[in-house]
Amino acid sequence: MSLPVSFLESLVGIKGFNQSSFEKVHASGEQVTSVRLNPLKYSNAQQELYDGAIPWCKDAYYLKERPSFTLDPTFHAGAYYVQEASSMFLWQVMEQLIGTNTSAKKVLDLCAAPGGKSTLLASYFMDGLVIANEVIKSRASVLVENCIKWGHPNIVVTNNDPDHFKQLKGFFDVIVVDAPCSGSGLFRKDPFAIEEWSLANVAHCSQRQERILTSILPSLKEEGILVYSTCSYSKSENEQIVDWLITEMDMVSLKIDLNENWNIVEVSSVNENGFGYRFYPDQIRGEGFFIAAFKKRGQTSFSKLNEIKLIKPNKLELTQMDQFFSAPNAYTFFKQNEAIRIIAEEWFTTLQQIAAALYIKKAGVEIGTIKGKDIIPSHELAVSTFNKSQFLQIDLTKEQALQYIRRKELSLDAPKGWCLVKYLDLYVGWIKVLPNRINNYYPAEWRILKD
Ligand code: SAM
Repeated sequence: MSLPVSFLESLVGIKGFNQSSFEKVHASGEQVTSVRLNPLKYSNAQQELYDGAIPWCKDAYYLKERPSFTLDPTFHAGAYYVQEASSMFLWQVMEQLIGTNTSAKKVLDLCAAPGGKSTLLASYFMDGLVIANEVIKSRASVLVENCIKWGHPNIVVTNNDPDHFKQLKGFFDVIVVDAPCSGSGLFRKDPFAIEEWSLANVAHCSQRQERILTSILPSLKEEGILVYSTCSYSKSENEQIVDWLITEMDMVSLKIDLNENWNIVEVSSVNENGFGYRFYPDQIRGEGFFIAAFKKRGQTSFSKLNEIKLIKPNKLELTQMDQFFSAPNAYTFFKQNEAIRIIAEEWFTTLQQIAAALYIKKAGVEIGTIKGKDIIPSHELAVSTFNKSQFLQIDLTKEQALQYIRRKELSLDAPKGWCLVKYLDLYVGWIKVLPNRINNYYPAEWRILKD
């Protein structure tokens, strides 16, 4: 793998850059695979592959080798997320800047697809609300899928341009901007990214990053935290953005404490000495990454937010729903088209405010759809972290679970009616057992095609 000369030249002089070991690690072909476990769906499925814990993130492990995740039913059940180790440093940033005071926090992941940071934030802010936004429609669908599989009821997925957030002035306690970038940090993982790289694209990305930040900062609360990250090594996408945030946007740079064994490099922006953190693959087990954190100062003028009234089910529908699913305390049902969904009561008004400003792709958990006297249960309910002990359920072998995820026919000795199927104690989905056959309700668009 040979790296562009203009790229290498542009990194000379940046703290931590060591050209010979940097080139060597790119030529080595070594691949690092890591996973972050879902704390609400613990499973020991991949344990024999663990190759040490990732020191800056909870429940995160390197793997000895890359298994076929597609052929692991626990992956589809949301037991873990395959995430690059450096980017899990976001957990460390949250631990140091937010600590345990997570309740009632509104957290925005602005550039969220496919969902690595959003699922991390959902696990961190268990009692907060995470808004995972993605501007590109097709990528927003992948984000929805990953958030559904993660199963936490505290995620709202939106599909909006950063500009649309201007209506939510001073709204968020935390905003994460994992910005679109020139992608050099992923050269080792994705050699095609090398062909796309150019100095002109770096300049284009840097301008876009400033535009995105300009659009989103008004929606951060006074004293709120901004986390900015890229998977680029270029100064104009990293330290220069730090300088710009301090001088032009009046943000206060925040220091993150590092353990020296981590080999993460603390850098200072040229003009303002703002803090930034660089991850080099020749020095850590992970890919290239940059992260920096800030606090907002100044007065955010308070403005009353618009709301769109979300429709609640009528009495009859509520009785029907209650009989089907006993909602946990302090949760409330609402309707979206034909489907009935549920969200924590404390977030209902917030959701109505979000609905007035943004296009919501998913909020809370879809429980099911009423069809006459019946309720068609939703896949979201099956893979949610809600207690489902009230439903019929049956354990599958690995082969049966894969058949199910392929959406093939199953032959099982199962009780009649709607039944949850499980693998290694993790819920995989619904089946409906009829007198002469079993209907497979795994979502058609997510079925695996691999044998
Ligand atoms: N945070 C994600 C994760 O951890 O899985 C990765 C995000 S990726 C680095 C950047 C995302 O920004 C992409 O999903 C891309 O579609 C989105 N994006 C592209 N252009 C954008 C723009 N103008 N404004 C906001 N987001 C944009």
